[in-house]
Amino acid sequence: MAYKIDKTKCVGCYTCMSACPMGAISVDSDGRCVIDPTKCVSCGACASVCPVTAIAPEQ
Ligand code: SF4
Ligand code: SF4
Repeated sequence: MAYKIDKTKCVGCYTCMSACPMGAISVDSDGRCVIDPTKCVSCGACASVCPVTAIAPEQ
């Protein structure tokens, strides 16, 4: 399981990128953030700092 970013909610503040201990979050071509599921360890740090609750565990 990995965490996933809802791009319809993401406002591109990039706070999650610096919070991720695995460097799993990068900026996509649309300016929104995206999580690499092969690097994500599901620690939840990104979700806890996102101001618009755009990040949640993938269902
Ligand atoms: S912290 Fe939330 S709003 Fe900010 S870039 Fe990450 S997903 Fe988008
Ligand atoms: S859950 Fe943890 S490892 Fe996965 S993207 Fe968020 S901060 Fe990074």
